[in-house]
Amino acid sequence: MKILVVNAGSSSLKYQLFDMDTNEVLAKGLCERIGIDGIITHKRPGKDDHKANVDFPDHKAAIECVLSLLTDKEKGVIASVDEIAAVGHRFAHGGEKLKKSAVLGDQELEYLESIVGLNPLHGPPAISGLKACKEVMPNVKHVGVFDTSYYSNMEESAYIYPIPYELYEEYQIRRYGFHGTSHRFVAAKAAELLGDPNAKIITCHLGNGSSITATVNGKAVDTSMGFTPQDGVPMGTRSGAIDPTVVTYIQKVKGLTAEQADALLNKESGLLGVSGVSSDCRDICDEAAKGNKRAKLALEILVHNIKKIIGSYIAEMNGVDAIVFTAGIGENDRQIRADVCKDMNWLGVEIDEEVNKTCPRGTLADISAKGAKVKTYVIPTNEEYMIALDTQNLTK
Ligand code: AMP
Repeated sequence: MKILVVNAGSSSLKYQLFDMDTNEVLAKGLCERIGIDGIITHKRPGKDDHKANVDFPDHKAAIECVLSLLTDKEKGVIASVDEIAAVGHRFAHGGEKLKKSAVLGDQELEYLESIVGLNPLHGPPAISGLKACKEVMPNVKHVGVFDTSYYSNMEESAYIYPIPYELYEEYQIRRYGFHGTSHRFVAAKAAELLGDPNAKIITCHLGNGSSITATVNGKAVDTSMGFTPQDGVPMGTRSGAIDPTVVTYIQKVKGLTAEQADALLNKESGLLGVSGVSSDCRDICDEAAKGNKRAKLALEILVHNIKKIIGSYIAEMNGVDAIVFTAGIGENDRQIRADVCKDMNWLGVEIDEEVNKTCPRGTLADISAKGAKVKTYVIPTNEEYMIALDTQNLTK
């Protein structure tokens, strides 16, 4: 069974074609600059990449180009579009109703359109991508996989904010959580490694956007992102959690509108805001190594906040069996992993410094010290595979 996974952004569309019988990625790629001009990068394992300028006035033109490349005699991997059994779409937000991955019919699409206000950045392009794919591939099922759905089992006490309850009832203001598909994938992998489906696991997805999730019995019980992906640990350009009064105070003293304050906290804060150097962790690490004090401080703030959240989840779950690092920083930055796990031996967390330093980047590794009560893993995330798997399960 072949499944196409699509992740549509405002000016981009990522795709991967899976053969679910062999668990292989047959081809993957990226359409960029949709609505501007257009570039496609198409990759197949063991073959040269194909990169070309193509005019992409909209998402439909991009998906048409993807399908023609997938079926191309030279650059393709399938003989006909009919080989694609179903399409899985990544959605950041499923709102309060789409609590599980679902086949997207008219009703579901209508609901997704009704909640774009909760998700103004990712919602509209994901819907455009879905509509384009449905138009071009009308005979297959289209499945939505939602980042938020992993959190649909959280207790009310974990997702209701201590603000007037009517705001939840009227405007659905609550903690939703994001990156759920990634946390679900790596938590399941950790449970498999532990041989315990009921394990207590803390997954740290640390990338340009970062979140930390606590999982018990395969279900998320808490997570650091909230109403939006702005909450939690500091990120590339997002502040993460701050005293909410800072927002209104900044607005007053700097004379900013709500939109300007929002942009300041989303685009000019986090690692970039503190370091003044870059939003990219590699640049900040380089600067810190050269003695840049603010770059060093940005990294210290990041580590401090990750530790704080891990500690709170251990208290919440009454223990932890494994801590997992994933995504760009989690999979690659040995120093951040070492700094986060430092001085946590009282909690049973201890890593093997040498294994942590030498484990190959981007591969699964057990970096726990011998005899450590808590396992510490590096697990490369694979959201696309998770989307393909849900799509297969809902359509086969
Ligand atoms: P992601 O959003 O998962 O693609 O992660 C992006 C973040 O991962 C950026 O802050 C990068 O600096 C960081 N990153 C990627 N590769 C490395 C690396 N080799 N060492 C340290 N950080 C890295």
